[in-house]
Amino acid sequence: MVRVHLDLCDPQRHLVGVELELQPQLARLQVQLPGWTPGSYLIRDYVRQLEGLEALQDGTSLPLRRLGPAAWQLCPDPSGGPLTIRYRVLATELSVRTCHLDDQHGFLALAAVVLELEGERWSGYELSCSLPPHWQAFCPLPQDAATGRWSADSYDALLDSPLEAGPHRALPFQVAGVPHTWVCWGGPEGADQWLLDRHPALLADVERVCEACCRLLGEEHPAADHYLFVLHLLDQAYGGLEHDNSTVLVYGRRDFEKPNGYRRFLQLVAHEYLHQWNVRRLRPAELTPIDYHRAPIVPSLWFAEGVTSYLDQFLPHSAGLTTAEQLFDDLGEDLSRYRLTPGRQVQSLRSSSQEAWVKLYKADAYAADSQVSYYLKGAVVALCLDLHLRQHGSSLAAVLRRLWTSHGRWGRGYSEADLLHAFQVEAPDLGEQLPRWLDGLDDPDLDGYLSTVGLQLEAEMAAAPWAGVTARLDAGGLLAQRVWRHGPAEQAGLMVGDELIALDGERLRQPEQFTAALRAGSGQELLIARRGQLRTLALQCAPPQAERYRLKAIAGASPDCLERQRRWLEQVV
Ligand SMILES: [Zn+2]
Repeated sequence: MVRVHLDLCDPQRHLVGVELELQPQLARLQVQLPGWTPGSYLIRDYVRQLEGLEALQDGTSLPLRRLGPAAWQLCPDPSGGPLTIRYRVLATELSVRTCHLDDQHGFLALAAVVLELEGERWSGYELSCSLPPHWQAFCPLPQDAATGRWSADSYDALLDSPLEAGPHRALPFQVAGVPHTWVCWGGPEGADQWLLDRHPALLADVERVCEACCRLLGEEHPAADHYLFVLHLLDQAYGGLEHDNSTVLVYGRRDFEKPNGYRRFLQLVAHEYLHQWNVRRLRPAELTPIDYHRAPIVPSLWFAEGVTSYLDQFLPHSAGLTTAEQLFDDLGEDLSRYRLTPGRQVQSLRSSSQEAWVKLYKADAYAADSQVSYYLKGAVVALCLDLHLRQHGSSLAAVLRRLWTSHGRWGRGYSEADLLHAFQVEAPDLGEQLPRWLDGLDDPDLDGYLSTVGLQLEAEMAAAPWAGVTARLDAGGLLAQRVWRHGPAEQAGLMVGDELIALDGERLRQPEQFTAALRAGSGQELLIARRGQLRTLALQCAPPQAERYRLKAIAGASPDCLERQRRWLEQVV
């Protein structure tokens, strides 16, 4: 048993006190802080927030020998008294995978907080915490009612448990009889009420979305036997992180005010809840078990994230909370983004998954031209797979259920071969087709698949000629934010970060002014500044290009086609 105590009573300094106590089993013990947290594929070097590390046994301080940036070795006496390891973690980074502590709340991603102790991965852990007055802590681990302590049966179970604390209230609800808890922190006091005032049916709607997830998996109950939702309601934000028995969501108050804001939020809820199966319990073999200190290459992240991103749009619809037209809008938006991402012709879907650590999570101004997100292309391939499988009398959900039954339910990690096999059993020709979609750079036949359900993608042309540059207003002037590869601006010699000063002698002040001054066909003179030096570039704009695509119904679709569409929208075979 390892005891972990967290002290959150110093919010002014944003420091979390950590104390680990155990009876040492080894005379040489390595301790190491994780470099990343599962679900977020970036080496974060959490150790940069750790300070004041010390180890004590029987009143004596033990020397710590540094083995690496995040690893130490110490030599306790296994026949002596308990070993205590103490340190502090600076909690100033507000995200779903980092730590934040101030006078309003505390949020801890435990991978950033608790050292991995050699030989104690499968030990039991007991977690407790000290809090400022009137605060409560919420954690998805089983809690002893008398002592308030939580218990985890392994280091992995502990790290999979985020901790949120503050003067918050917990709102309970049930999904198929399974207890769920809703906790919202939103900066100023009463933020959760702000949300409930706008959406009084919020918890009932979340419950319906959760039930729709269970139905999709063919299950009566969620996989978890209790579940915690933590929502950070910020001014502007979007994201989530999945866990076995919980999720942490972050969403913008301003986004709730948008017409599609509430349904986007329900899709986010569906996405993270579906992860309780896909990627958490039904997990790629490369993540079984998890190496917290190095970056494992996971070629099937497209299945974990792309399939979940595709299905999350259907779940609020299956729950009866959105219309078919709204679903077409949302699917169309993804397809549009995909069609407008030139990087899809540079990076394959498998490479995108394998390179998550160094590309998707480190995207820069050139990313759209050199890479494609495995969420986005994964969702597009998931759409094609679903519609392909439906031609064989099956569906994507049927494949997910098959994998859940063969692997996820038993905690067996799946290999790429297992994944391919599961698709091939439902549709034999996918044995050849799917690897082409994963390794190739050509687009799948989207138009062909969409036509099977009576839909087509329609291009909307931009009004202005195409310059292949996006400009943004910065304190210093109008800056080139993105320069399309092979586009007119790139050919003229422009690069990201250049200041756009004048076009054909007219001083540029606003992005709209630049767009309005573009002319197709004839050459234009663009005055820019780069590293403080002026340059004149010859810009030759191209004719207007498609600026977005919309998913539209094909007029006069056959009754058979419309019936296929209905079954697809409701995600039934
Ligand atoms: Zn996800």
